[in-house]
Order: sequence, then structure tokens, then C-alpha cells
Amino acid sequence: MEINHYLKIILNSKRFKKKSTYCKCVIAMNVSVDKEKCIGCGACVATCPDNFEINDENKAVVKSMSVSGDVEKCTRAAAESCPVDAIILQE
Ligand code: SF4
Repeated sequence: MEINHYLKIILNSKRFKKKSTYCKCVIAMNVSVDKEKCIGCGACVATCPDNFEINDENKAVVKSMSVSGDVEKCTRAAAESCPVDAIILQE
């Protein structure tokens, strides 16, 4: 018999279907702040408090450098709100 025949048997078996899972891959976006450009205006924090805060040096810092889902959406909005383009997004 051909190998495809055996593959079909395995793939259609109850045991294989029961144990197999589907990949729930999430592609994350990387985010960082250019501290040289940041003027500490706080627009990013106001737009996305879930992922930005102002540090002791009055510069924005990200809480999570790798984001997805709702945090990714507000991180993008924060990047658009930045008046000096200090927020760097990497897909
Ligand atoms: S919006 Fe831009 S300039 Fe303002 S605090 Fe955030 S990163 Fe800094």
C-alpha cells in the first residue's frame, strides 16, 4: 500500500483527532520608545495607559515590549498621538 493510505488512516483515526490541537498563533508587535526624541508630554500614557508610563526622568517607557490584541491597538493609537514620533513599532 502507498504511504498516503497509511497517512489517511492515521489522520482519520479517533485517537489522532482527539489528541490533535489547532495552533492558536498570535503574531505580536514589538514596541519601544526613543528616549532621545521623547519630550515627556504624556500623550501616549493618556491614549494607552495599559502600555505606557512616564518614568522618573520624565520619559515614556513601555510596560510590555511585545504586544497583541487590544493592547496592540491602543499602542498603535499612542504612536499616532506622539507629537515627535518617538514610539517605534516593529511588525
Ligand atoms: S507621546 Fe511621545 S513624546 Fe509624549 S511622552 Fe509619549 S513617547 Fe514621549
